Order: sequence, then structure tokens, then C-alpha cells
Amino acid sequence: MDAEIVSIGTELLRGEVIDTNASYLASQLPLLGIDLYRVTQVGDERGRLVEIFRQAWRRSQLLLTTGGLGPTEDDLTREALSEMLGEELKVDPTLEQGLRGLFALWGREMPSHNIKQATLIPSAQAIPNPRGTAPGWWVEKEGKIVIAMPGPPKEMRRMWEKEVSPRLSQQVKGEIIISRTLKTYSLTEAEVDELVSRSSSPVEIGIYAKPDGIHLRLIARAPKQEEAEERIQQGEACLRQILTGHIWGVDDDTLEGVVGTLLADGGLTLATMESYTGGLLAATLSDAPRSCAYYNGGLVAPPKETSIALGVEAQLLSQYGATSLEVALAMATAARQRLEANIGIGVSGEDAVFIAVEDGRRNRTYHGNYPSSYPEAKRRATIAALFKLRCLLLSPD
Ligand code: ATP
Ligand code: MG
Repeated sequence: MDAEIVSIGTELLRGEVIDTNASYLASQLPLLGIDLYRVTQVGDERGRLVEIFRQAWRRSQLLLTTGGLGPTEDDLTREALSEMLGEELKVDPTLEQGLRGLFALWGREMPSHNIKQATLIPSAQAIPNPRGTAPGWWVEKEGKIVIAMPGPPKEMRRMWEKEVSPRLSQQVKGEIIISRTLKTYSLTEAEVDELVSRSSSPVEIGIYAKPDGIHLRLIARAPKQEEAEERIQQGEACLRQILTGHIWGVDDDTLEGVVGTLLADGGLTLATMESYTGGLLAATLSDAPRSCAYYNGGLVAPPKETSIALGVEAQLLSQYGATSLEVALAMATAARQRLEANIGIGVSGEDAVFIAVEDGRRNRTYHGNYPSSYPEAKRRATIAALFKLRCLLLSPD
């Protein structure tokens, strides 16, 4: 099946919003065995929308659109689809009722212009959108499919995952497709590629470089659910053998979640003191669910005086300077003692970053120099600190 994507919104053409919807959908279509041939971005202008839809309708079997389903005057996807297909827009009583119910739930009067979100054309079915007010549209006509989804990425993704993808999969392939992502660290993309190319895994494998390491996406296809599951398990087992010791997470696992689980399972607590990362390490650690159970707190201490007041020896600072392992270690110890935790992390540095993780007996250290912008360098240093923490947590005593 040939597909194309049309991303709708003038903000995309102005460069104000990055078209992540199209890249997300583009990454999903191969799972369904659908070939994507074109991605178009178009502004909120009815004439141009109709023109793009006409071209897409002529040349592709599947047209996916995102955006322009809102209640405002510049949201014109429904109007343009109705014109392109020569079908009249009508308010659907069930959709209207649902929409009015939603506003009632919020204790608000429904603004009159919202009614257009309850409209359909005869060949369209509504696709539920529990995250917003705009239902999607599923149109089937003359053997072709048009699927209109909302612009906000959270609404679009949920609609894709729960409604559109399963239905398309059934319709297009009569095949079940399961994917799994394995997340690795301390290997380069080339090394992973080299290792994987020598494997005989029964699944398709995609390799992607991400900030937290190299990710492998495994895809298994089979006529039945059980067969696809069995295949993905075989594939995973095979890759785990090849990549022993390098896999830190699966699917939606985050690094902060993974170290959080290790800390909680070990009954251990953590404290941090950071200058280089300016609080990003503390913010990231607290992103993990139930982090208050093990994260005693974080001290953000940029100037010398503050570090000294928080327990870093003045003499160390003047002898080695902030860009040193000695100071990073002293910060880790000071955080651990001050906040009465089992493990401390110190992140120091100016041009280069120095990271230390210690528990009073053992330590793990790291230093890096990132040739990137400072916000990016902070992100990379945060990831490095979390990997060092994981390393200490997994080392035998
Ligand atoms: P709304 O009800 O919010 O108006 P909508 O379906 O009309 O929904 P748009 O108005 O086109 O959608 O977009 C709403 C917001 O969603 C945009 O401001 C933008 O932040 C985000 N968005 C829209 N299209 C995209 C896209 N292709 N990629 C990423 N984000 C997008
Ligand atoms: Mg809108």
C-alpha cells in the first residue's frame, strides 16, 4: 500500500513548530508494511489544502493527515476533505452529544464554533479522541483510505496507537506486528551494527543513535499473535546474548527509572550536588515515579562559596579548581553526608565535566568534554552521571 502524509498548519511553514507528527508516523508505517512516498506540509489555507488533498487522492491509496481539526476558523481539514470528495458536511448527533457532554463535564458552555468538531461527511467515521475535543476521521471510498488526525502530538499518537494502527494492520496485512526496543550503552552505532550483522536473529532490526545510547528496534511479523510474540522473544534472546552487559533498558524504560528501581530494590538512598548541570540531574532523577522514596535531594551549588558552605573543603577548591575529579568527589561526599543518603553524586566542571558517584567505600568517576552547546552538554553530562550511578549499583561489593 502506498501512503502519503500531509501535515497541516501554518506554524509548520513558519518554522515555529517542528513536524514531529510526520516523523512519528513515518517511523510507524514500516511496521505495517506500508510504503511512504511523500510528506507534505501545508498552511491553513482552504484552496491549497484542497489542491494537496486532490493530488494525494489521485496518487496514493492511503492519505494520513494531522492538524486542522480544532474549532477555530483556520482549522479547515474537514472542510477541505469534504470539498475534495464532493460530500456534504453534516453535524452528527452522537458526536454533538458527546462534545456537549465533555463541556458539561468541565462545567463550561460549549462555544458555538466547536460544533464543527461534531461534523462528518457520509463516507467518514469518527475516530475517538479521549485526549481532546476533536475526533479523527476515517474515510473509505473507492478502495482508498483517508485518515485525519488531530495536530497535538499527544492526541495524535494515542489515536494512532489505539485506533488507527490496529485497524490498518488488520486491513492491510491480515498480519500481526510486534516491536520491541532494546537500549544499549557504551557501544557505538558501528559496533552495534557489526555485532548485529553477525547474528541470526529471526526479526527485522533497526539501529538508532539516541542521547542515551544506541537503540535497537526489533520487529516481528506473523499471521498470529502467539507466533509474533514467540518470534520477538527469540529475537530478543538472541540479541541479548550478543550484546551481553550492554543493554540497560527495554521499550519505554528511562535511565532515571532504571536506576530508581535499582535504588528502591536495594533499599538505598541517593543525594546529589551539581554545578555543571545546574539542577538538571536533580530534575531528571525526580522525573522517575516514586523518586521521593529513594532520592533524598539535590544541591545546586555553582559558586565556590556555596560549595564550601555545603561542605566542600575550601582547600580542595583552591588546590584543584572546580574542574577536577577531586572536587567532584568532595561534592558527592558532601551531598551524601549532608542529606544523609547512602550514595552521593557530584557533578563539577566548567569547560569539561567531572562526575563522581560514591557510597563511602567505593566510587565511580567520569570526565568528559562535549563540543556541543551548553544545554546539550548538560543533558549529556546528566546521562553520563546516571550511567555511572547504574554502574556503581550493579557492581558487586
Ligand atoms: P487544536 O484543537 O489544538 O486546534 P488541531 O487538530 O487543529 O488541534 P493544530 O491547530 O493544527 O491541530 O495544532 C495544534 C498544536 O499541535 C500546534 O500548535 C502544534 O503545537 C501541534 N502540532 C500541530 N501539528 C503538528 C505536527 N505536524 N508536528 C508536531 N506538532 C504539531
Ligand atoms: Mg488548531
